[in-house]
Amino acid sequence: RVPVLELDDVSVVYDSVSGPVQAVSDVNLKVYQNEVVGLIGESGSGKSTMANAIMRLMKNNARLTKGTIRVNGRDVYSMSKKELRTFRWSEMAMVFQSAMTALNPVMTIEKQIVDTFRSHRPSMSYKEARERAVDLLKLVRIDQKYLSSYPHELSGGMRQRIVIAIAIALEPSLVIMDEPTTALDVVVQRSILNQIQELQKQRGFAILFISHDFSLVAEFAQRVAIMYAGRVVENTDAKTLQLGQEHHPYTEGLLRAIPRLTHEEVEIQGIPGHPPDLLHLPKGCAYHPRCPFAAEACKQVRPALHQLAHALVECHLYDEVKGGNMAWPSRQT
Ligand code: ATP
Ligand code: SF4
Ligand code: MG
Repeated sequence: RVPVLELDDVSVVYDSVSGPVQAVSDVNLKVYQNEVVGLIGESGSGKSTMANAIMRLMKNNARLTKGTIRVNGRDVYSMSKKELRTFRWSEMAMVFQSAMTALNPVMTIEKQIVDTFRSHRPSMSYKEARERAVDLLKLVRIDQKYLSSYPHELSGGMRQRIVIAIAIALEPSLVIMDEPTTALDVVVQRSILNQIQELQKQRGFAILFISHDFSLVAEFAQRVAIMYAGRVVENTDAKTLQLGQEHHPYTEGLLRAIPRLTHEEVEIQGIPGHPPDLLHLPKGCAYHPRCPFAAEACKQVRPALHQLAHALVECHLYDEVKGGNMAWPSRQT
């Protein structure tokens, strides 16, 4: 099986006046067809940087310093600009974090969708592109009368549906969604997620779903990658996550931070401390200043990635474990 997306030791640095900002470090990740992989982490952990790097739409001061990114087996960074122009949107697409402003305010919805088709399929007639636009709107359950509307005439939820429709217009095999519903209220969020799920089942594309909402991701994705200070510190299946097995201490912290509705009282507990300064990453494990399990070795040696039964975890606690569950001090009480 060729993965739809394959990141191999990917590192991204921003050049800044204070020095290099190490935003993404040594990331390995695979996403297969029909799969929804969630990517979570605190603000600033490098999620959007990674997404932009995959699309080869990085900010001017960003550089891929290491690794390869393959989409459908093709190295995104060895394509010519021309190849990339056809590849992007037709094989990989993205819903940007600022998607609420992604539509052109002075262009009708019809024109924007038609342009998407015609820029990639120059031989397509206006009439055919318009028919496809009608189908697309149907797919995201928007009445075709809105084709003649301008973005400001639509609700936030409708605009977001249209942005998603445009992303899947050319039937890409990979769709990256960077916080696609964050700006919307909970009810609209829920309905859009259900719709994405339906579309994904129908069309079989793979999704890299970025969010900081742990419970949302655990429900929506089959696999979850947890990012901390630019590294994927755990890659686990969502079921394991719900069962609370095999976790990196950071994941444990995130899980504790979710209100537990099963308990009588809703208790939210943040993780004490702050994410590290990416200009001066701590030696050893980047999480050690905040980790309740940190040992001397954690301050000196960067932990290796350990393959466990259902997860990959980058933490010294698993050094001696060969595929079994850890006995966690926190869980013994
Ligand atoms: P959020 O959840 O807030 O969207 P994120 O996980 O998407 O956060 P990124 O936007 O990828 O985080 O940022 C990762 C790090 O890179 C942050 O520390 C950020 O300050 C830094 N960064 C982002 N863009 C630039 C830039 N253009 N120049 C320098 N540093 C940047
Ligand atoms: Fe904590 Fe050490 Fe594991 Fe890092 S390597 S998460 S500091 S126990
Ligand atoms: Mg982001």
